[in-house]
Amino acid sequence: MTESYDAIIVGSGPNGLAAAVTLARAGLSVAVYEKSPTFGGAASTAELTLPGFRHDLGSAVHPLALESWFFREFGLDRRVPLIVPEVSYAHPLDGGRAALAYRDLSRAAEGLGVDGPAYERLMRPLVDHLRGVADFTGNALLRVPGDPIAAVLFGIRALEQGGPWWNARFREDVVPSLITGVSAHTILHQPSLAAGGAGLVLATYGHGRGWPIPVGGSQSIADAMISDIRAHGGVLHAGVDISSLDELPPARAVLVNSTPRTLIRLAGDRMPASYRRALERFRYGDGVAKVDFALSDPVPWAHPDVARTGTIHIGGTRAEIAAAENAVARGELPDAPYVLAAQPSLFDSTRAPAGTHVLWAYTHVPSGSPVDREEAVIRQIERFAPGFRDTILATASRTAVDVAAWNPNFAGGDISAGAPTLTQLLGRPVYRPDPWRTPMKGVYLCSSSTSPGPGVHGLAGWQAALSALRHEFGTRLRPDLAPRDDQLIAAAR
Ligand SMILES: Cc1cc2nc3c(=O)[nH]c(=O)nc-3n(C[C@H](O)[C@H](O)[C@H](O)COP(=O)(O)OP(=O)(O)OC[C@H]3O[C@@H](n4cnc5c(N)ncnc54)[C@H](O)[C@@H]3O)c2cc1C
Repeated sequence: MTESYDAIIVGSGPNGLAAAVTLARAGLSVAVYEKSPTFGGAASTAELTLPGFRHDLGSAVHPLALESWFFREFGLDRRVPLIVPEVSYAHPLDGGRAALAYRDLSRAAEGLGVDGPAYERLMRPLVDHLRGVADFTGNALLRVPGDPIAAVLFGIRALEQGGPWWNARFREDVVPSLITGVSAHTILHQPSLAAGGAGLVLATYGHGRGWPIPVGGSQSIADAMISDIRAHGGVLHAGVDISSLDELPPARAVLVNSTPRTLIRLAGDRMPASYRRALERFRYGDGVAKVDFALSDPVPWAHPDVARTGTIHIGGTRAEIAAAENAVARGELPDAPYVLAAQPSLFDSTRAPAGTHVLWAYTHVPSGSPVDREEAVIRQIERFAPGFRDTILATASRTAVDVAAWNPNFAGGDISAGAPTLTQLLGRPVYRPDPWRTPMKGVYLCSSSTSPGPGVHGLAGWQAALSALRHEFGTRLRPDLAPRDDQLIAAAR
């Protein structure tokens, strides 16, 4: 490596790519180095099972993308066709019942039985303050809230849904199950403040903007950023596993799209001991085991309206899901686990040959579990979709160990790249006003191990790039990220 660049990004996940987009759009020379043979990190799509069946290797559904400051400025919805199902997520229950989170909150509440009005009272103020909630919990997590009313409304509700009184306003199990299904995205003890808060954020997006599925898979989101980087002179190198910062060509700024653990290894003696000790205190959470399916038919859900959504939360009642999640937190494998599933081919015909389908699923497991959970996942889906097993043409199953081997950011299979506990969301990876900047001259951390945390929103990369622009290149200007005419999707022209 003999070239030199203004800025180098190690890793091409959505945050690494967001950083590269921002710096290339500032007119800097930019290079991205990625260990895998393809770019995109956990926003990648590939054939895993049979020819013609395209599976999302990591993320599948993108509730956080539409309200992200980075993707709004980037004009994601004008570059990538995003399909927004009328039901954001569904929660099947025994007896052929299901709770459906229609985007339209009133319609959702009407279908939720006696607790429908209580659900609408819980969610309506947050949906009405959607942008304030998005800014307070994501875009500007570490700043004084721009909409303090949204922050107060959110805080009160997070305390309620994250504490032992979480059932107080409800009489049946339908609405509590729906809320816990979405809170369980976090892989945390239930109830807990961080899980309750995350669930409310995701539910607010569900009723405010919807949960979009990109045509072509999550790779389309990565590809839109890659095309923008190249259009502005950036270069990307695949198959280069960086093991030390000293291997990199000279650059004024290096942005590392990895965990603190990897940064410690890459920096070696360059890292001040006090900062290293602080990064060593960063904790990684429990993991996931993933199962992808090629199917001959759509999933035969007992409740037919589950086919109206892209995302399904499987695991039964609030009490059952809490028991399963708390077993994982104790280091056990539950018999009836929580399963998160997505059925993108119902909405996007590019994912599977005509008439056939893909199903994306994962379940939570203790950190570093080597256990294959395919059978446990099939059993749980079959419980709410009898006959599912007969539709399976092929499967690809990955243990938590496999997930970590695929992407080193997911230590022990922890797809959050660091436990999303309350303390680790507020100080991520350390308590600093600018958590992306390290004490090493020109070195930044820009992964989901930094604020605002996990998800495909590009915000960590964007914030790290803005910090590098300020501190290494002396500009407070925010580069214009808007798409050029030739980057707009046909439908938006
Ligand atoms: C199974 C799964 C399901 C998920 N589902 C969703 C979802 O539906 N919606 C959602 O919003 N989020 C989801 N997520 C989370 C989301 O994908 C991540 O939070 C997000 O991708 C993090 O982006 P990132 O850029 O920080 O890192 P990553 O996407 O993890 O990318 C990091 C990249 O850096 C590379 N890298 C690391 N170290 C080095 C090195 N030393 N040298 C070279 N390259 C290196 C890695 O190979 C990788 O490509 C899911 C994640 C997984 C794994």
